[in-house]
Amino acid sequence: MARIISFSNQKGGVGKTTSCVNLATALALRSKRVLVVDFDAQCNASSALGEFDKQPKNSVYDVLCDDLPAKDAIRKSELENLSFIPSSCDLAGAELELSQIVIGRERVLQDKLAEIGDDFDFIFIDCPPSLGLLTVNALTASNGVIIPIQSEYYALEGMSQMMNTIKLVKKFLNKQLEVDGVILTMFDNRSKLSRGVYEEIIKVFGDKVFETKIPRNIRLAEAPSYGKPVMLYDKKCSGAVAYSALADEFLAK
Ligand code: ATP
Ligand code: MG
Repeated sequence: MARIISFSNQKGGVGKTTSCVNLATALALRSKRVLVVDFDAQCNASSALGEFDKQPKNSVYDVLCDDLPAKDAIRKSELENLSFIPSSCDLAGAELELSQIVIGRERVLQDKLAEIGDDFDFIFIDCPPSLGLLTVNALTASNGVIIPIQSEYYALEGMSQMMNTIKLVKKFLNKQLEVDGVILTMFDNRSKLSRGVYEEIIKVFGDKVFETKIPRNIRLAEAPSYGKPVMLYDKKCSGAVAYSALADEFLAK
């Protein structure tokens, strides 16, 4: 069965999508079979993997709200081992639709992913920047959660709500849920601020924090506009090297 991991932080723009897509790619390049599920109506993970249509046929919305089998929504990426389920702007309405289900509304994604769990080593879910029913569905479907945190002032703002949501999902919906890791993103080794944030985060998360930090690197921001993960855009840039090192650390953990 695939290990299912949510990339979540309700704070926006911290590197969830960048980390989800590029760690997935680095693992696919290490012969793991990986599926990225774009679970955000912004569709950023989909475009980073080459699907620029923001309302494609057979998206995660249809899987969630129209009972489409998950396998019918899977697309191949440029890489043999990397597949994805694209999102759609329609997903913005999914929270409301799900909320009208009387029993089991937190488990819809879990049920759908169970159909395809044997086909992958890892399923990564790119969560939206909120803690609503979509994120609860993602956390309920997951074995673990990876939290990307941006190395900046107020990095830990909102983290207590995030941890509380994880605690509640663990208590009522998914006993096995664990924090698998914390990724420090947009890190600047020369900046006192970045180093200070790192120390703060270590105090809170201890050895959950990956030693590999992701530097601020413009290539990481450019690659999605070409519909490519960074390793296929510029495999030697510091961002690609960092996500490759992160994949090694992740597999060794
Ligand atoms: P959202 O909450 O909107 O879904 P997010 O948490 O998924 O955002 P990303 O989309 O991954 O965050 O990153 C936010 C922006 O920062 C994007 O434009 C991305 O290209 C850029 N970015 C992410 N990581 C880095 C980095 N290490 N260096 C430079 N730019 C980065
Ligand atoms: Mg995102």
